[in-house]
Amino acid sequence: MPGRMERGTTGRDAFGGAVVEGAQAEHLFRSLLASVGEGIVVWDAELRFRIWNPFMEDLTGYFAADVLGRKLPELFPAMHRAAGIVRRALSGQIVRSPDLRYQHRTGGTGGWISGVCSPHVGPDGEIVGAIAMVSEVTARRRAEAALRRSEARYRRLFEESRDAILVTTPDGRVLDANAAAVELLGRSRRELLVTGTVELWGDGADLVRLTTDLDRGGSIREREIVLRRSDGQAVTCLLSSIALRDAAGEIASYQSILHDVTLRKAAEEQLLHAGLHDALTALPNRALFLDRADHLVKRATRRPSESFALLFLDVDRFRYVNESLGHPTGDQLLMAVARRVESCLRQEDTVARFGGDEFAVLLESIGDPADAVRVAERIQDELARPIVMGEQEVFATASIGIVPWAPGYARAEEMLRDADTAMNRAKVGGRARHEMFAEEMHADVVARLRLETQLRHAVERGQMVLHYQPIVGLDSGQLSGFEALVRWAHPVRGLLAPAEFIGLAEETGLIVPIGSWVLREACSQLRRWQDDAPEANLTMNVNLSARQFLQADLIEDMDVVLAETNVDPRSLAVEITESVFLENAEASGRVLRQLRDRGVRVCIDDFGTGYSSLGYLRRFPVDSLKIDRSFVSGLDAEGGNLKLVRAIIALAQSLELTAIAEGVETAAQRRIVREMGARLGQGHLFASALDADHATELLGRPTGW
Ligand code: C2E
Ligand code: MG
Ligand code: MG
Repeated sequence: MPGRMERGTTGRDAFGGAVVEGAQAEHLFRSLLASVGEGIVVWDAELRFRIWNPFMEDLTGYFAADVLGRKLPELFPAMHRAAGIVRRALSGQIVRSPDLRYQHRTGGTGGWISGVCSPHVGPDGEIVGAIAMVSEVTARRRAEAALRRSEARYRRLFEESRDAILVTTPDGRVLDANAAAVELLGRSRRELLVTGTVELWGDGADLVRLTTDLDRGGSIREREIVLRRSDGQAVTCLLSSIALRDAAGEIASYQSILHDVTLRKAAEEQLLHAGLHDALTALPNRALFLDRADHLVKRATRRPSESFALLFLDVDRFRYVNESLGHPTGDQLLMAVARRVESCLRQEDTVARFGGDEFAVLLESIGDPADAVRVAERIQDELARPIVMGEQEVFATASIGIVPWAPGYARAEEMLRDADTAMNRAKVGGRARHEMFAEEMHADVVARLRLETQLRHAVERGQMVLHYQPIVGLDSGQLSGFEALVRWAHPVRGLLAPAEFIGLAEETGLIVPIGSWVLREACSQLRRWQDDAPEANLTMNVNLSARQFLQADLIEDMDVVLAETNVDPRSLAVEITESVFLENAEASGRVLRQLRDRGVRVCIDDFGTGYSSLGYLRRFPVDSLKIDRSFVSGLDAEGGNLKLVRAIIALAQSLELTAIAEGVETAAQRRIVREMGARLGQGHLFASALDADHATELLGRPTGW
């Protein structure tokens, strides 16, 4: 022990001014060494241990008796750094040691210590040794290591997160950004650290809103925002952000996680788009159209000054194009129609495709219904130009129904229903027209619906009746045969002419069962007449509408009827109109050849009114032409259709077809058509359509028209 300190020192110097002496000083000194919560170690100039206080004994397991008098490098050879520090203290420096590992007596690694080592200056001012104050820092070291580990873990999470993480200041500077953020935003980390987030969020307003919300609530969760990448591409992200506050409670930074949902959004948008758009034309579909239209209905209801109009458009004869030129051409036509209709509209207007050949148009802010009519006209003009498809030109016309909004409408569906009604009116009125909806059309529709229901049961209830109009040899004045003309014995309205229900029957498909009944009835009647008057060689003409003509089992049906009634097919003729060739030339040709194979004759009815090229006459097996009565009726007047009728008859003769004059009402008409070369005639001059009994009477009577 440092004897000199015991001897001769007054204590004042050694104990900070306290006055203790002798044995008292020695006792105090030992108490201090024992009670201090730090290690105190003293070495002499040879690095021999001179003091080793109880704290050091507890810490290391070495007792003072084990240590004192021994040299540091010998006793603790591993602690050469400690020895170095003591040597520096011996040379006069005060050395703050780094954390050092110490050795525990049991051989374990022990823990960590650190401390300050100072020179021990003797009474005569020379350095006689070194004194160290030693602290145990193992716990601190552990805490620090744990912190470092957790920081590293956090850093890894931060860096390897698939979501972008950004730490930003309240004024929008980026403090930190992970790799995913770098990738997401398409900017280098360096760039990010100098770029304001205002730019990143793409929209300054967004940031303002975000920060306001953050200020208020301190956090936001999964808010959808759109960021701009450096290449200008927009990225949709879900942003979760929390504000980190400093000790004073001020927001120091925001920590934000950005989850890229661009792909998901794109898929969603596509699905949404598909759900609301027509795949072929990319136009809005019915659902989207109705949505917008309903919106306008509500707006107009609130502010009647903001009126609008709805158009319903149906491409005329689209089915024929589709069936005769093929679906790809049909599709092309629809796309062309879509683009042309679009070209007639303003930015704010909507055109939608409802499927098939139906389109609807919303005209916003239309004050005067006349404006809607003008748009309809513009559309029709635009459609009138030929549409070039490959090598061919196709003409598309459309029938358009117009409905201006009016206070009674509560839903767009109602307007659509009326536009449809008006459109049908336009169709019936001759197609390629537009028609404004009028209130009375409602009544029409209701009446039509009622008629349809009744017509459905007409055949089974035996309400169909056939009348027969004689067809007469113009030279001989002899009865050649009959044309069967259908009537509907309506229970309330009496005998209805075909004009009152054939159109409806064609539209609803009821023409098929009706036509089938007509064929059977006409053949049965013919059988009876042929039995009664075999020598008359009577024929029967039966009208077939285009729909019936293209019906798949027509021929089959006919074979059955012919077999059952035992009628010679050569005494049967079908009357078809030119529209059959317009609709589906290929299928029509097939049916015509099957008819010819059986010997059934084919007569073109209403000839001359079909606006068709007459090429089909050469291509298809046809037997006779029935000159339309509108041409015949004008024949006695000066000029009239003389030239036309003559040309038709000449054409028929050149093709070896029989010309039949329809609607012959006067002797003059009869004379003219006969002189021109028509072989057969039909009309009120001879007889109108008669019921079966009256027609039968003609058989027994010597005719001589
Ligand atoms: P259509 O085949 O051209 O028949 C001739 C129409 O002219 C008949 O009218 C007939 O009564 C009428 N008519 C005959 N002679 C004269 C005349 O001298 N002057 C005038 N002004 N008219 C005359 P109806 O019976 O009213 O038939 C009209 C149309 O209905 C027929 O025209 C035909 O296209 C269609 N039709 C009639 N029955 C059937 C049928 O069973 N099936 C089908 N699909 N259509 C039918
Ligand atoms: Mg006819
Ligand atoms: Mg006719």
